[in-house]
Amino acid sequence: MAYVISGDCISCGSCEGNCPVGAISQGAEHYEIDAGACIDCGTCAGTCPVGAISQG
Ligand code: SF4
Ligand code: SF4
Repeated sequence: MAYVISGDCISCGSCEGNCPVGAISQGAEHYEIDAGACIDCGTCAGTCPVGAISQG
């Protein structure tokens, strides 16, 4: 069960560099997590200023 980024994302970019496997990238409308690459470490969720990242 990968982590997911909701529509609350303001595209600040702070989560991207904190993912150990590079699963986060900028998508068309907001940042996105590659479910196939995410290892569920949870690090990104703690870096989001608006709480847009949660376990899916
Ligand atoms: Fe990357 Fe961990 Fe967030 Fe998954 S939970 S996107 S592996 S930082
Ligand atoms: Fe979006 Fe949160 Fe990541 Fe910033 S830290 S890009 S608001 S998901």
